[in-house]
This record gives sequence, structure tokens and C-alpha cells, in this order.
Amino acid sequence: MSSPDDKVLIERGPEGAAAVGPIDRLLNLCRKHSLWYLLFGTACCAIELMQTGGPRTDTDRFGMVFRPTPRQADCLILAGTISYKMARRIRRLYDQMAEPKYVIAMGSCANTGGLFQASYAVVNGGDLIVPVDVYLPGCPCRPESLAEGLLLVQKIIEREHWLKKAWGKTPDPVDPWPESARGECKA
Ligand code: SF4
Repeated sequence: MSSPDDKVLIERGPEGAAAVGPIDRLLNLCRKHSLWYLLFGTACCAIELMQTGGPRTDTDRFGMVFRPTPRQADCLILAGTISYKMARRIRRLYDQMAEPKYVIAMGSCANTGGLFQASYAVVNGGDLIVPVDVYLPGCPCRPESLAEGLLLVQKIIEREHWLKKAWGKTPDPVDPWPESARGECKA
């Protein structure tokens, strides 16, 4: 029987179940279902981030839980307006996270500076500080949208080849956003 993560077979027997597949895929299967995000926010979108962890969206069911330290977090969510004062702190938190790590820009302020982009004190987009993997629109960005963004990060993880990179082999060219995955963010 094939799992949703293609190329990984799950065999069930009287003694239990066994997963068989390329080790990259098995690792990715574990990593994508244990995505821990940093408990961090800079403005009002952070309230929506807190709500996303609540019972209605319940990210725990995807294996996603918040961590209060960057050293145990895989995912940095830029939740809110980013002032120049906070930009250096954000970069430091990002640098303290271990690889592989992912960044979500949550809401208009984190994407472009939002309605404060003309301010002398506001950074016009989180990608000026750290590399962003997923951009989520909205002011505020709703919990449903953030949940969709976290699922998109899972899709990126699914397609990675960390062991091939570690062994010095050239990984297959991977399009992180193949045709089949485009247009899926409906929130
Ligand atoms: S996008 Fe809107 S809700 Fe989010 S931090 Fe900016 S002003 Fe606040």
C-alpha cells in the first residue's frame, strides 16, 4: 500500500506496520510531520498566529507545535510589521536556527511593509532580512491562510534531497512549485 508521500510503501502485518522507501523520502516524511515553528511575532498578525495554534485550526494535528527557542525551531513565521529596530533581532533568531529551516512571511506587512511601508521606521518586506519560502497575503492574514502556508512548507520539505546533498552528489533538479502544486493556496 502506498502512503500519501509517494514512493514510500507502508506494509501492514500481524506484528504491526513497516515503511519501506528511499531514506531521503522517509526522512522527509518524518520532517514534514514534525515542523516546529518559532513562537515569535512583531505586531497584530501575531495574534492570528496564536489563534492558529488554538483548537479551531489546531496545527498540532499536523505535527506542528510552537517552540520558544530558535534552537529547536524549523520554521520562522514573520508575523507582523517589521521595524528596523526588530530587523536585526529577527536576523539573529534566524541565524540561531539549525538547517534546514524555512521562513513564512505572514500578512501584508511582512510581505511588503503593508500600510506602513511609507514609514521611515518600517522594513518593506521580510525578504530584505531573511530568505522567505512562502508569502501569505492579508491584513490580517487569517489562521486558515497560515495553516495553508504551513502545509505549503510541508510540500517544499517533501521534495528535498538532503542526503544526496550531504554525500556530495548533485541532486536532481527539483522544482519546489511544480505545475500540480501551483494555485493550491486558496485561503
Ligand atoms: S498585515 Fe495588518 S494585521 Fe498584519 S501586522 Fe500588518 S497591519 Fe497588522
